[in-house]
Amino acid sequence: MAADRAEDHGRARAEIDLDALRDNVRTLRAYAPRAELMAVVKADGYGHGAVPCARAARQAGATWLGTATPQEAIALRKAGDRGRLMCWLWTPGGPWREAIERDIDVSASGTWALEEIVTAARAAGRPARVHLKADTGLGRNGCQPADWPQLVAAARAAEAEGALKVTGVWSHFACADEPGHPANAAQLAAFREAVAVAERAGLDPEVRHHANSPATLTLPESHFDLVRPGVSVYGLSPSPEVGTADSLGLRPVMTLSASLALVKRVPGGHGVSYGHGYTTPGETTLGLVPVGYADGLPRHASGAAPVLVAGKWRTIAGRVAMDQFVVDLGGDTAAAGDRVVLFGPGEAGEPTAEDWARAAGTISYEIVTRISARVPRVYTGEPAGA
Ligand SMILES: *Cc1c(COP(=O)(O)O)cnc(C)c1O
Repeated sequence: MAADRAEDHGRARAEIDLDALRDNVRTLRAYAPRAELMAVVKADGYGHGAVPCARAARQAGATWLGTATPQEAIALRKAGDRGRLMCWLWTPGGPWREAIERDIDVSASGTWALEEIVTAARAAGRPARVHLKADTGLGRNGCQPADWPQLVAAARAAEAEGALKVTGVWSHFACADEPGHPANAAQLAAFREAVAVAERAGLDPEVRHHANSPATLTLPESHFDLVRPGVSVYGLSPSPEVGTADSLGLRPVMTLSASLALVKRVPGGHGVSYGHGYTTPGETTLGLVPVGYADGLPRHASGAAPVLVAGKWRTIAGRVAMDQFVVDLGGDTAAAGDRVVLFGPGEAGEPTAEDWARAAGTISYEIVTRISARVPRVYTGEPAGA
């Protein structure tokens, strides 16, 4: 697929390998063979481009797609997606009616949401499809156990009126990236209880779902009817405790690269970049990499993150600026225009998003998701079609 900023490719680009993404979806399906798979494509597909990634995930057997915001789900419908699609992050006054009219499954964590859903469904003249979210221990979104019977009863009443159908009961883990953490078993027990309460109230949800990537990969008893992997669809391990991409059979999908903008000799003792956080130890060659924090690189990667240039790993010399950073090429020969790989699958010796995460004190999720719109996405592999 053509990226819309073709003129910018020489500076920097994020190659998105859709074959790798399809392989990951198939691999994840094999981890959860009895469940359906919802590919999570929120936040523009974790920075990879929601629409092409969604299409590729569908081709590889994702029967559901998931987004955080309703706007993200509506955008997928406008791009032609017709399959089951759910979004979960609602605020009062949200586009409930449009979501219902576009056949998007919505989520309710409280009675305020059910009330807005019922009103919107009446206006739309058709029932909404609603997943009730329980807080089984994450303490973020979701309904507390004490309030759950009331939410369930309100949903059942609205269902009896024909305003909605409860298609799902669901929740989300706090600590699944730490396999064996006692919160995981406690959350599953709380979820089973929430499902039992819903069933006793007369609800018959089509799908019960609790598993994110780490739970899909490590906790089969959490799979229920549907798993919701996100980061692993993009070929990244959720945490070192869960494994490496390689050990899990995942293929990183994004490769971020740039062209050197300048290569120059400088004398020893020369300060480099803002604040002179790096000083050349002797006469050397500096390479200018025209990518910075406006492209989504963490400024915390200053002086820390690796790149592959002229066949070697080099650490960022000094600060990451808005649009550029510098590497000390240590006298190696390189020229303006040479390719620098910031991160990728690691198969050609380049660093990975995980290496960047470690260097910047964050997680690989954040490394790929923050790559900004200024960096054109270039899709490789079999095109995802329409
Ligand atoms: C982001 C998200 C996921 C996917 O999580 P990963 O750890 O990326 O697999 C699943 N469910 C919900 C509710 C989420 O917000």
